[in-house]
Amino acid sequence: MMRRGRVEVICGSMFSGKTEELIRRMRRAEFARQRVEIFKPSLDTRYSEEDVVSHEGTTINSTPVDCPASILLLSSDTDVVGIDEAQFFDNSIVDVCNELANRGVRVIVAGLDLDYLGQPFGPMPALLAIADEVTKVHAICVRCGSLAYVSHRIVDGDKQVMLGEMKEYEPLCRECYKKEKGGRNL
Ligand code: ZN
Repeated sequence: MMRRGRVEVICGSMFSGKTEELIRRMRRAEFARQRVEIFKPSLDTRYSEEDVVSHEGTTINSTPVDCPASILLLSSDTDVVGIDEAQFFDNSIVDVCNELANRGVRVIVAGLDLDYLGQPFGPMPALLAIADEVTKVHAICVRCGSLAYVSHRIVDGDKQVMLGEMKEYEPLCRECYKKEKGGRNL
């Protein structure tokens, strides 16, 4: 059977269900007897070293990797490659996704589109550009119930790395984020 490679990107703010959507697609591929493998950056060790764990607690096995090149090395027998928390990888993840798709692999990438300052996050803009298909998922704004747009940081700090849970970040819509910032430096 000829395999058709493609790149699918699932992006959105924190608490938008990105990882749940990634897991859903990977499970369906597993039911179809495809060989699946999930990779994530090794710095995302919030819950467990081995599993991709979503905020809703559904898990699927995953392999932490230090750099995108490792994904190429470790996925030679894989039909569907999932990549979670892609925003933490460097830009070489873009070439890796292209290379996999050109080999006939279906690549499903999940990541935060914006950091807590509302700036495009790491390699995500380039991944969105090369994607065959883009799905933007939304959390609900905790202030007004509209669709959220950005993950606002509640606690102090200026590191871009976001490994938080509900305690540290809250999803806000564009309007409520604007009010929160009081029009400063937007
Ligand atoms: Zn709002």
